Amino acid sequence: MGILEVKNVSKNFGGLKALSDVNLNVRENTVHAIIGPNGAGKSTLLNCLVGKLIPDTGSVMFDGQSVLGRKPFEINQMGISRVFQTPEIFGDLTVMENMLIPIFARRDGAFRMHAIESIRNEAGVIEQAEKMLIDMNMIDKRHMHAASMSRGDKRRLEIGMCLSQEPRLLLLDEPTAGMARADTNNTIDLLKQIKAERDITIAIIEHDMHVVFSLADRITVLAQGTPLVEDEPQNIRGNPKVREAYLGE
Ligand code: ADP
Ligand code: MG
Repeated sequence: MGILEVKNVSKNFGGLKALSDVNLNVRENTVHAIIGPNGAGKSTLLNCLVGKLIPDTGSVMFDGQSVLGRKPFEINQMGISRVFQTPEIFGDLTVMENMLIPIFARRDGAFRMHAIESIRNEAGVIEQAEKMLIDMNMIDKRHMHAASMSRGDKRRLEIGMCLSQEPRLLLLDEPTAGMARADTNNTIDLLKQIKAERDITIAIIEHDMHVVFSLADRITVLAQGTPLVEDEPQNIRGNPKVREAYLGE
């Protein structure tokens, strides 16, 4: 049984079938990549997993419990954390201050913005944030303004902020989009490190095949809202159906 089981999920936008009968089974402690041409429905699928969209039909089970009908913050509390396509960090705050927010929010059981000063006084929060920054290899950058960092470092910080919530499932939507090659490679290394060191399942939407084949244990190919194949990476490479789906991209 998978930690995430999606069955027969469909989603229409007006007359457009964004997802048609999508099935997806993500096994615990694996990296599962979801790939497919632009407009295939990848982000729509992810939005259905985190409560941003409600599918028209089908079921989404996380660790045996339905996520459907729950609000995004409730799904987050169930153990699913999501990294968006554009880094969602607070540019005006330092790296350290950014890291304090999810740690405090998790303790507080609420997901609202707090005054940084009141967070600082909370016992143990600083230590926990420092530990995560060390794990993320970012402790030297703790006083930097988040906005002044490279795209790769912003992404690194954001992933650290997600991990501080101790999710069981980390969802990433094109985490290397718009990155220079060096930042992409750093992100690959970071995700490899997370996979090796943590008890975590990762589902990643990714356009860059270098990233996909560097990380994925299993790959689902979506095309026009329908899963085309789900298999191990070596069977996806060169699969004629997959090649056909990407033709004309
Ligand atoms: P992908 O992430 O694979 O590129 P998306 O899931 O973003 O694809 O989009 C799938 C299809 O659904 C596309 O045709 C897109 O234009 C359409 N779509 C996505 N979100 C909406 C929306 N909120 N309203 C209408 N159409 C949408
Ligand atoms: Mg997308």
